[in-house]
Amino acid sequence: MSKPRHIAILTGAGISAESGLGTFRDVGGIWSRYDWRDLATPEGFARDPAFVLDFYNWRRETVRASEPNEAHRALALLQGEWHGPVTLVTQNVDDLHERAGSPDVIHMHGTHLTALCAACNQRWPAPEVMRPADPCPACDAPRTRPDVVWFGETPYHLDRIGAALASCDLFVSIGTSGTVYPAAGFASTARAAGARTLELNLEPSGNAGLFDEAHHGKASRIVPDWVARLLAER
Ligand code: NAD
Repeated sequence: MSKPRHIAILTGAGISAESGLGTFRDVGGIWSRYDWRDLATPEGFARDPAFVLDFYNWRRETVRASEPNEAHRALALLQGEWHGPVTLVTQNVDDLHERAGSPDVIHMHGTHLTALCAACNQRWPAPEVMRPADPCPACDAPRTRPDVVWFGETPYHLDRIGAALASCDLFVSIGTSGTVYPAAGFASTARAAGARTLELNLEPSGNAGLFDEAHHGKASRIVPDWVARLLAER
């Protein structure tokens, strides 16, 4: 096989698990303790904004107290050293890729770091605590919400991601269960456009059949191992 030039990477909650941030669908994961319909839909927010904001206030505090791990750092190293483009797309709303040194991260599900006005779409740095009555700094409406993409909403940056999937030579999926669309379809899109596909996950994901190669284990070990091999072979 010829050496890849453009590498597109998709990360999920599994890459941040060893930084102390819970995953969603694993046993004991967030969705085994909370109902996603209450916490991650526009309808849940309309029903009980205080409950939803409290949940995200707690998540934001947990993210602020966490640190990137070796897997985040290895991807930052790859982005810095690779001779071709490395497109890094994450489903995560934490900022651990950025804090590990990644220069360009596409947050397709938004980020904990910004607040969003549900009335006028203004964004601003997230305060430590969001409350339902907080007014938007632009339009003054009391419609502050986290800048995260909820179920039923369209993920961000799909044009840029689509372009990367169409032009990459290697697509790598890291720490994601392969159950949330459209991200779960990225491997088949990249493969149909001619890319090789690689999965790095704790266990075979729901999409295991879509990958040409897979390595299973903890992200903090298998991601740095893969990056070291790739940089040694180039
Ligand atoms: P998921 O919970 O559905 O799947 C996590 C995957 O990671 C599983 O396949 C699991 O086997 C694997 N995993 C667990 N620990 C691992 C480890 N140490 N090393 C490698 N792999 C490990 O999460 P997902 O697929 O990212 O689900 C998508 C949704 O979850 C997104 O909407 C995302 O926004 C959200 N989410 C984000 C965060 C975060 O920002 N840190 C945390 C939880 C969920």
